[in-house]
Amino acid sequence: FDKTGTLTKGVFEVVNVSCNNDFNKEDVIKYAAYAENYSSHPIAKSLKTAYGKDVDEKDIGEIEEISGHGIKAAVLGKTVLAGNKRLMEANSIAYTECNEVGTVVYVAVDGQYLGYVVIEDRVKATSKEAIEALKKMGVKHTVMLTGDKKEIAEKIASELGLDKVYAELLPGDKVNHVEQLLKESNSLAFVGDGVNDAPVLARADVGIAMGAMGSDAAIEAADIVLMDDNPKNISKAMKIARKTIGIAKQNIVFALAIKILVLILAAVGIASMWAAVFADVGVCVVAILNAMRAGK
Ligand code: ADP
Ligand code: MG
Repeated sequence: FDKTGTLTKGVFEVVNVSCNNDFNKEDVIKYAAYAENYSSHPIAKSLKTAYGKDVDEKDIGEIEEISGHGIKAAVLGKTVLAGNKRLMEANSIAYTECNEVGTVVYVAVDGQYLGYVVIEDRVKATSKEAIEALKKMGVKHTVMLTGDKKEIAEKIASELGLDKVYAELLPGDKVNHVEQLLKESNSLAFVGDGVNDAPVLARADVGIAMGAMGSDAAIEAADIVLMDDNPKNISKAMKIARKTIGIAKQNIVFALAIKILVLILAAVGIASMWAAVFADVGVCVVAILNAMRAGK
């Protein structure tokens, strides 16, 4: 599983804003909202909502979204950075680390540290049941891969009863972990919303995308698309798939058995023309009727 938007709602609420001495909190939120204007990341959407005002798109220049790090954007002629501490470190910004619980978005303008915004995501109401249902259906090992902070990841994993968690991963690291997990298991499914996990969706044996919220890239890369973002539908999809395969096997055995029987009877001269008609068209109709149970 991916975390943000898959097991959690992906709707972040701003819990705290802090600023460096020379600036005010309004500025921190404003620059963050401007920089994130064009991003479809759940974090970006929440920062825009927190800003509340309209963003003047004329003031935004070149934008670079650095996956697993954050955003670099030209706003009002200045270079704005909004993202996690990895982004600050990569650009050698002298930031003060925040130890509050939650996802922290640090903001810097023209190389100067402005402040941070602490945002918090909530676990989806159905995530815990979804994991339990999967375990009941025989899923042996549940793993969460996330780009978010370790503390948050571990808290959510224990809340949901996941077996293992890997945090602070870049999209590339997620692929490496999936490669490793593919070696360790006979079949592996990955569930994600596809905001930068499309490569993993494509690489897994079965890629499952959260359709309503997920990106187009995810839907393209996935084998299964859940239309309403409810993780409980993963076990439902498995049930439908198992039933479908079961019906297909029943039909193959039934059709071949009848045909072979009629063939033998015909060879010894007992089968009538009607038996042959049933062996062909009749078997076909019965198989179709049986297959219609799959959608129920
Ligand atoms: P997840 O694996 O939980 O879906 P992502 O890989 O999308 O998370 O992002 C990992 C981390 O990178 C986020 O927790 C955040 O700190 C940072 N990040 C990614 N995109 C953005 C963005 N648009 N704005 C700010 N921070 C971002
Ligand atoms: Mg994600």
